[in-house]
Amino acid sequence: MSKPDQSVTPMMAQFLEIKEGYPSALLFYRMGDFYELFFDDAVAAAQALDITLTKRGKHQGADIPMCGVPVHAAEGYLLNLIRKGFRVAVCEQLENPQEAKKRGAKSVVKRGVVRLVTPGTLTEDTLLHPRESNFLASFVQVRNQSCLSWVDISTGDLRYSPCPPVRMGPELARLAPAEVLVAEGASNELLEIIQESGAAATELQQDVFDSSAGADKICKVYGVRDLGGLGEFGRADIAAISGLIEYLSATQKGQLPLLRRPVCEAQDDFVAIDAATRKNLELTQTLSGERSGSLLSVVDRSVTAAGARLLFRRITTPSQRLATIEERASAVAFFCGQSGLRGAVRSALKQLPDVERALGRVALERSGPRDLLALGSGIIQAAQVHALLAQHDLPPLLQNAADDLKGFEALSDELDRALVSDAPLLARDGGFVATGYSSELDEITALRDEARSVIARMQADYADQSGIPSLKIKHNNVLGYFIETTASHARRMMSVPLSDTFIHRQTTANAVRFTTVELGDMETKILNAASRATGLELEIFAGLCAQVLDHAVPLQALAVAMAEIDVAAAFSELAMAEGWVRPVLNDSRDFIIEQGRHPVVEAAIKAQAETVFVANDCNLTSTDDMIWLLTGPNMAGKSTFLRQNALIALLAQAGSFVPAARAEIGIVSQIFSRVGAADDLARGRSTFMVEMVETAAILNQADDRALVILDEIGRGTSTYDGLSIAWATLEHLHDVNQCRALFATHYHELTQLTAKLDHVDNATVTVREYQGDVVFLHEVKKGAADRSYGVQVAKLAGLPQSVLERAKVVLEALERGEREGHSKQKALIDDLPLFSAVATSAPAPSAQSKLEEAFNAIQPDSLSAKQALDLIYELKSKFKT
Ligand code: ADP
Ligand code: MG
Repeated sequence: MSKPDQSVTPMMAQFLEIKEGYPSALLFYRMGDFYELFFDDAVAAAQALDITLTKRGKHQGADIPMCGVPVHAAEGYLLNLIRKGFRVAVCEQLENPQEAKKRGAKSVVKRGVVRLVTPGTLTEDTLLHPRESNFLASFVQVRNQSCLSWVDISTGDLRYSPCPPVRMGPELARLAPAEVLVAEGASNELLEIIQESGAAATELQQDVFDSSAGADKICKVYGVRDLGGLGEFGRADIAAISGLIEYLSATQKGQLPLLRRPVCEAQDDFVAIDAATRKNLELTQTLSGERSGSLLSVVDRSVTAAGARLLFRRITTPSQRLATIEERASAVAFFCGQSGLRGAVRSALKQLPDVERALGRVALERSGPRDLLALGSGIIQAAQVHALLAQHDLPPLLQNAADDLKGFEALSDELDRALVSDAPLLARDGGFVATGYSSELDEITALRDEARSVIARMQADYADQSGIPSLKIKHNNVLGYFIETTASHARRMMSVPLSDTFIHRQTTANAVRFTTVELGDMETKILNAASRATGLELEIFAGLCAQVLDHAVPLQALAVAMAEIDVAAAFSELAMAEGWVRPVLNDSRDFIIEQGRHPVVEAAIKAQAETVFVANDCNLTSTDDMIWLLTGPNMAGKSTFLRQNALIALLAQAGSFVPAARAEIGIVSQIFSRVGAADDLARGRSTFMVEMVETAAILNQADDRALVILDEIGRGTSTYDGLSIAWATLEHLHDVNQCRALFATHYHELTQLTAKLDHVDNATVTVREYQGDVVFLHEVKKGAADRSYGVQVAKLAGLPQSVLERAKVVLEALERGEREGHSKQKALIDDLPLFSAVATSAPAPSAQSKLEEAFNAIQPDSLSAKQALDLIYELKSKFKT
């Protein structure tokens, strides 16, 4: 560094020193009631937040740009900055100005960064979506091992999974972390995958991910002597988890969140669903990025925030384990048979605060009295739910959950006794400890209250003494207690004998203020009492937090149990309201759906109340047909049918009931969904290229338990190219992948393939033609579509009549050409009566009428031969075609 600049003020020197430690973050530098930003930070923040950029003093001869946000509103600004991709270092005053003065007249208040706020490390309710998790992830590759680990620090949920780099895309799509940690020097490819998932990539020094030091670090966090006590970990696992821990302790300044024991998620525990499939099936958001209209928005009937987060997880991470799925479905079935109980449990759950996140804040010492109140009331609600469930013979999942709900009576009594019900948000505001909880505090408070009545007495005395009945004792933050009179009375106060007692302090526009020695003493007493009261309250608060943390592990279990109960009751509520059934799951490779429906399309149709959704069967069996080739005109319902079956499989394995009359599903290992020619211009690849890359992924990855839906693959290129690709893809699925698949196509030529491929059958969505119009029946039945009805559909879309007529002529000619064995092009060029057809069958109406008009206007008898000839020339030039 250059030698200290004379012109640098001590405060600016302090700022620069602190800022040096956080070059990649904006520094929120606390000054009284504001967080101030300086230099480039100020310029960037002012622009991002749309706040005024000002300046303060000079640095090396130039103005110092500055902007600030008020402390009380800082959370909103923080959120805004984090969303815009910034990281923020929060620098607080670590002592008050009086303490600084004691160290020397010119001393600057001690300051330090207490927290680095990044997208993955948020805990405030205002900064988090209540119904979604907020994950911080880390990815590590050590030689031939690699691991993805992730944690939600607001709840302490920590997991890890072996994750080869090729699985990063799908995993990030599943978890949607806010931030991903990687070692410095990560490949561009990896960084790109992270960015594409919408997460912030944070590159850290290699040694953060050191696996040998990492094991000790993890042991220390969990208080175990040997890592083996926590589970089995490879080197990459250890490196990834310890990387998370290291980063958390750096950003939280040593204060670790309450971490649950790491849970390993084995890849084959869950249905593999890649990013494109998630997007296509619109699981948690629609293609246009909205929540409403997604599968989740239609199936989520949970009533608690933690329940919603668990349900989100169920939908995004369906299970492949038969036993797990059965256990969940049994819990749903139980509540289906117990409507009264379900209603009672759900109304108790509705009162439940977010216990998980309140507990998380307590652990991070970021909590307030209201978090303790939330925990207290959470315990009471849990006890109530326990009492409701205890009277029943419960399925295992619910029994286990119920067992976790009790045993907190002492803690709940303590919290109840200690806290007033309308406690402030922040402990430092005081006034949250209930009377009777601490005799010491009660004494001080009594003193304080007594002092207040003493002051009231003093006011009466002074009024008597001065003969000014309107005299008042008031209080403000600048002067403390003072005596106030109007200006007209003030002269008397300022002259002998009253001036012996009353000391002038201040004159304002309409009042004059005084104090007395006695009042000053009283004030000191009150202040002492108040600060002792606050100190004592903070001590009590810390004690209560410690008691809560003693119960941290069982309290987390309580929170998880309540979420489980909420999800089971919610799926049951949904099943009963919508008439869904419990699916039968087994080890076969069958997929038999009777009267299946698309939950989202059905809900949309219901909302419009115009038509009903037409339920359809789907019947794929390993002994007969594994693949259905679906043809039918546009708008018939092909895409809907494809998706509804994928969604039914997904819902079944999520542990939900399904929208069907009956469902029998052999466990699905992977779900793939592709739509031909999806527009993906944003990524700068041609749509056809995207389509082919995605199709290749399926053909390379789908195993014999996969469920594949392909919607008009090949649409993105010329007819013959597209047809051949679709053809070959279908053959590959049939011969090599041997998986269950639904294949929608508009290439009728493909329907002939069923003769050649044993396990492919044709199905079609029916339409009826009625007086030249097409009527969609939305019924799926076996067989091939007779024709495509494209022209009729175009008519519905409002194509001009002339174009429709012309299209019909072209279509007929093409079909005739094919029948007679010409190539399509030849049929087009040779046989088609080109534009004449348009002229005869649909002459342009306006031209016709003008000509008619002109003709009608002619009176032949009045024309000379020359005039007649001119007229013919004129008309001919005017209506020349
Ligand atoms: P395709 O893929 O054959 O062009 P879609 O699946 O996109 O057709 O369906 C078009 C529209 O038809 C849907 O938006 C929906 O409103 C309606 N639809 C589809 N399937 C059904 C059904 N089974 N019952 C009622 N309406 C349906
Ligand atoms: Mg379609």
